[in-house]
Amino acid sequence: MTAFLVNKLLNWTRKNSLWYFYISGGCCGDELLQTTSCRYDLERFGCIQKTEPSQADLLIIHGVVTRKISNYVKEVYEQMSSPKYVMVLGSCVNSGGLFSGNMVVNNIQELFPVDVFVAGCPPRPEAIMSGLVKLQEKIIHE
Ligand code: SF4
Repeated sequence: MTAFLVNKLLNWTRKNSLWYFYISGGCCGDELLQTTSCRYDLERFGCIQKTEPSQADLLIIHGVVTRKISNYVKEVYEQMSSPKYVMVLGSCVNSGGLFSGNMVVNNIQELFPVDVFVAGCPPRPEAIMSGLVKLQEKIIHE
């Protein structure tokens, strides 16, 4: 019973303190920037940007992931602290989108598991926030 409660408490703290590192490969970045602005205020979810992958537990990727940068993306993921989560934004990173082809990673799950996919080209800030809430629900039930 105690272990169960401790787990619940840890999950609750994790879900409310998601520190993210982001990799931007395209125009979806503008929407993420908007989501951090005072109108949407991502920080009220405890979601704070970190510039060092080892300090982050959430990786947000948007835009095109080319084969050329895939090793860098994987390295960033490996440097992050555990437990770690991944949220991908927009159709380019979900499936290659407009740029799908041999030079692009068409399925990001080739590199690592993804927790939340946010659809759209670009996804609106509301969609990004809804993706974050889905991730929080996933974490609390872990
Ligand atoms: S999904 Fe659309 S908005 Fe996002 S990077 Fe690709 S083309 Fe740009």
